[in-house]
Amino acid sequence: MTGAVTYSVDGDVAVFTIDNPPVNALSDVVRSGIVGAMNQAESDPAVRAIVLTGSGRTFSAGVDITEFGKPPKEPPLREVNRRCEMSTKPVVVAFHGWALGGGLEMALCCRARVASPDAHIGLPEVKLGLIPGAGGTQRLPRLIGPEAALDVIVPGKPVGAANALEIGIIDRIVEGDLLEGAKAFARELVHSRETPAAVRDRDEKLATARSNPSTFDAHAKELTKRARGLDAPLACVKAVRMALDTPFDEALDKERAIFIELMNSLQSKAQRHLFFAEREAAKVEGVGRDVKPRKICKAAVIGAGTMGGGIAMSLINAGIPVTLLEMNQEALDRGFGVIRRNYDISVERGSLTAEVRDRRMALLTGTTRYENLADAEIVIEAVFEDMAVKKQIFGALNKVAKPGAILASNTSFLNVDEIAATTDRPEDVLGLHFFSPANVMRLLEIVRGGKTAPDVLATALSVAKRIDKVPVVVGVCHGFVGNRMLAARSAENEDLLIEGATPEAIDKVFTDFGFPMGPFAMGDLAGLDIGWRNRKALGKTAAVADALCELGRFGQKTGKGFYLYEAGSRIPVVDPFVGSLIEEKSREAVVNRREISPIEVIERTIYPMINEGARILEEGIAARPSDIDVVWVNGYGFPIGKGGPMFWADHEGLSKIVERLEYWHGRTGKVAFEPAALLKRLAQSDACFE
Ligand code: NAD
Repeated sequence: MTGAVTYSVDGDVAVFTIDNPPVNALSDVVRSGIVGAMNQAESDPAVRAIVLTGSGRTFSAGVDITEFGKPPKEPPLREVNRRCEMSTKPVVVAFHGWALGGGLEMALCCRARVASPDAHIGLPEVKLGLIPGAGGTQRLPRLIGPEAALDVIVPGKPVGAANALEIGIIDRIVEGDLLEGAKAFARELVHSRETPAAVRDRDEKLATARSNPSTFDAHAKELTKRARGLDAPLACVKAVRMALDTPFDEALDKERAIFIELMNSLQSKAQRHLFFAEREAAKVEGVGRDVKPRKICKAAVIGAGTMGGGIAMSLINAGIPVTLLEMNQEALDRGFGVIRRNYDISVERGSLTAEVRDRRMALLTGTTRYENLADAEIVIEAVFEDMAVKKQIFGALNKVAKPGAILASNTSFLNVDEIAATTDRPEDVLGLHFFSPANVMRLLEIVRGGKTAPDVLATALSVAKRIDKVPVVVGVCHGFVGNRMLAARSAENEDLLIEGATPEAIDKVFTDFGFPMGPFAMGDLAGLDIGWRNRKALGKTAAVADALCELGRFGQKTGKGFYLYEAGSRIPVVDPFVGSLIEEKSREAVVNRREISPIEVIERTIYPMINEGARILEEGIAARPSDIDVVWVNGYGFPIGKGGPMFWADHEGLSKIVERLEYWHGRTGKVAFEPAALLKRLAQSDACFE
C-alpha cells in the first residue's frame, strides 16, 4: 500500500481513504494504494464490506491529466476498476466535494454510492476533447439509462447530489456524518438478502432503449446540435450507443480505442492546453499567495447601459449588493427595466425561479448621487467610451469613495493610467474589461495600471472567481489584448471587400474555421454605429461600413446592416443592395475586383492577429502566449478545438506565417503584415510560442 490511500477497519467494515492532495487525483500511487487495500480487505475474514472515501475537500477530481501522453504507470485504472467490480465484499463509495471523471468511473464499479448534499458528480472528459475512457460510457447507461447518461456525458457538466439521486447515479444522500452514513449503508448491504448486481451486469435500462433506438438517436442529435466541429461530443454519443448492442467487454475495448484516438488528436491537445492555460492565467507576477485580497461586500456600477446592466447582473447573481448610478432618473429606470426584463425572460424559460429573481433584484439599488457610492468597496465605471467623461467620473469618485475602495473602468480601449491620474489614489485604480453580454461572457481582462497595487489585482482576481469569470491580467495599451488583436483583423476585412470578396464569403471562412459567426455578422450584432463613431473620432474611414451607417443601417438593431434581418429575427439574410454598394465602392477606388480565396482571407486576417499577438508579448502586455489564447477563446469565439490563436499558430507553422506575412507586406506595404521581431526570431530558430 502507499501513503496516498490509508486503510482502517471499523468492526466489519474496512475504510479506504484516498489522500492525495489537492484533489485526490487518481495518480499511480493512489491506484496501487487501492489495489493494496483491496488485497488486505479481501484477505481479512473479519471485514464484510468496504467503504471508499476521500480525505480533504473532495472525493476525487479524476485521473491525473499530467500523466497523459507519458508512458503509462502500473496499475492502470482499468485494473483498479476490475478489482472493485469483482470484490467479494460490497464496496460503497462516499462522495463529497467533486466526484469527477475517473473518480466516478471507479465508483461505478462499486456496488453502491452515497453522497453528502454538497457533492458534485460528473464525467467532464468532453471538455478536454475526450470521452470517459475507463468504462464510464458503458456503465453509466446501464445504471441510469442511455439517454440520461448522454445528458451527463455529452455536456460534461457535473450534477449536484440531489439531481444525481433523482437520476440514480447515487443511492442515498447522507445528511450528517458522511463516513458513518456510508458505513451504515455498507452494513445494510451485508445484512440484506439481495446485494445489488454489479452495474456491468444490469440490462433493464438498456432493454427499454434497445426497443426504441430512434428516441435515443433523436436525443443524441439534440444534444450535439451545438458541437461546432468538435469531435468529442459525437464520440461520446458513439460510445454510449455501443452500450445498446455491443457486448460489455468488447465495448470497453472499443471505448478505450476511441479515448486513445481522441487523446492523440490536435483538438484534445488544444482543449487540454486551454484547461491548463486558464489555471496558469490566474498566476500573476507580483501577486503571490501572501498578497491578501481586500474584502468586497458591496459594489457600485456607474452607467446602466448595455455593459453596466450586465456587470451589475453578474455581481448580484453572485450575491454581491450593487448600487447602480446613472445620469438621471429616466436612464436609471431604463437600465433597471432591462435588467428586470432579462430576469423575467429566464423565469419564463424556466431557468430561474421567480423567488431567485426577486432575491437578486432586491440586491440592486439605484441612485443618481455620488454620495450614495461611499459604502462600496469596488466601483466599476461603464459609461460612454469617452476619456473626458471617464476622467470627470473618476474625479468625482476620488472625492466620495471610501479609503481603499477599488476604482475600476470597463473601458474597451482607453489608457487606464491616464484615468488613474485623475485620482490621488492611482494604486486603487485598474481596468475591468467585461465582454458583451457581461452577465454571460466569461472573459474578464483585468488591466493592470502602472501603479495598480498587488492587493488590488488580487481582489480583482478573487471577485472574478466569485462572479464565475475567467480572468486574464493584461497591461495598458490601446485595446489591451483582445480588442487590439481584433483591430488588426478588422482593418483588413474592409479592404478584402473592396478587392473582390463579399461579407457572406468572408463570414463563411470564419464559420468554417470554427468561429460562431463571421466578422460582418458580428458587426451587425454589436452595432455598426460604434465603429463608425470611433472612426470619426480618430479621423479614419471605411468606405463600405461608413456608407451603410450613413444610410442608417446599423445592423440588427435597425433590421439592416451588412445583412438584412426580418422583424424579430437574428438570422442574417444576404442583401443584393449591399453587393451593389460594395461593387460601387470598388469602382470608386479604381480597383478591379478579383476572386479572393479562403486561404487569402485567413492569411490577411488571422495571420496579422497572430503578428499583433507577438507584439503584445514583446511589449509584455500579456504575460504568456497562453493568456492570449484564453482571451480569444473566452471573449471572441476563437474555436476551442484550435486552442486559441497562439496555440493554433504553432501548429500552422510560424515560418509559414512569417513567409506569408512578408509576402503580403511586400505587396501592400501595410504595417500590420510586417512580421514582429519575436515572430521572426521564433520562426528562424524553428521554435514555438508555447
Ligand atoms: P451604453 O451607451 O450602452 O451605456 C452607457 C451608459 O452610461 C448609458 O446608460 C449612459 O446614460 C450612462 N452614462 C453616460 N455618462 C454618464 C455619467 N456621467 N454618469 C452616469 N452614467 C453615465 O454603452 P456600453 O456599450 O454599455 O459601454 C460602456 C463602456 O463599456 C464603454 O467604455 C465601452 O467601451 C465599454 N465596453 C463596451 C462593450 C460592448 O460590447 N458594448 C464591451 C466591453 C466594454
